Amino acid sequence: MARVVVIGSSNTDMTVRLPRLPEAGETVLGGAFTTTPGGKGANQAVAARRAGAEVVFVAAVGDDELGRQALALFRREGLDVSHVRVVDQTASGVALIFVGDDGENMIGVASGANARIEPEDVDRLPASLFRRGDVLLTGLEIPHRAAVAAMRRGRDAGMIVILNPAPAPAAASPDVAELLASADVVTPNRLEASALAGISPRPETDWADCARRLMAKGPRAVVITLGAEGCLTAEGDRFDRIAARRVVAVDTVGAGDAFNGALAVALAENRPLAEAAAWAAAASALAVTRPGAQSALPRREAIDYLAR
Ligand code: ADP
Repeated sequence: MARVVVIGSSNTDMTVRLPRLPEAGETVLGGAFTTTPGGKGANQAVAARRAGAEVVFVAAVGDDELGRQALALFRREGLDVSHVRVVDQTASGVALIFVGDDGENMIGVASGANARIEPEDVDRLPASLFRRGDVLLTGLEIPHRAAVAAMRRGRDAGMIVILNPAPAPAAASPDVAELLASADVVTPNRLEASALAGISPRPETDWADCARRLMAKGPRAVVITLGAEGCLTAEGDRFDRIAARRVVAVDTVGAGDAFNGALAVALAENRPLAEAAAWAAAASALAVTRPGAQSALPRREAIDYLAR
């Protein structure tokens, strides 16, 4: 079985749906409240597991009820959580989300335990976790230096290292060069790709050129996801444009996470990049047909069926 190690964030998303978004200082009544598991790392780990891999999830949760709930959920999904650290006297990561009836949203994130993942925590992980041929997938909802430390260990062990550069670091951030140089495959969406390349996204942006610029900074391959327009894969001189699957989208939150989890599994199965991305496009298309992020993630049989 393919094996994927995800080092990333875990949050609880607390969402209030309102007739409209409040202004600063204003109170809007008439909302409905839901709590759902989230965090890009956790979403991607669950996505990879449901897509058919053995998944080790390396993360940090707080010493609180939300952390205990998250751990119980990861276990139910069949993730290996032996390297999830419970951080004393720290809250679990929380995203507070307002969604207006027009679909607009406002989000504030308290990273909590996610911000406490240190490079030293990565250094302490056993060598047996990092194995040749497996995939390591990480992102930027954890401290950048911890993501870099994880990618270095993965590289040294001969793993395929995927960086999902989300949320986008500021274009001028001094971390960008080191992050890009530490990954084999980088998987930005349009906004993230533009930020990393230092350009402003436009309808006429040449994404192949953007991918070329990113590859010049280190990764051997780049996959730019283009929402309902699919994605572009770039590896050396080879560029492939992959169409999105035509589906009725009801909730595109977490599309990128579904894509990244499935891509990681396909690459761990040694499939070529364009074929892996086409399979990931099927997985993310299924995810957008259902509401929610983690709850909408498809299982392998469904992905295989749509990808035929
Ligand atoms: P993110 O969620 O990170 O912003 P994208 O919006 O680029 O990422 O979506 C990731 C992938 O999900 C796309 O490459 C595409 O394959 C799939 N996807 C997103 N929106 C749709 C849609 N409306 N219909 C079909 N597939 C979609």
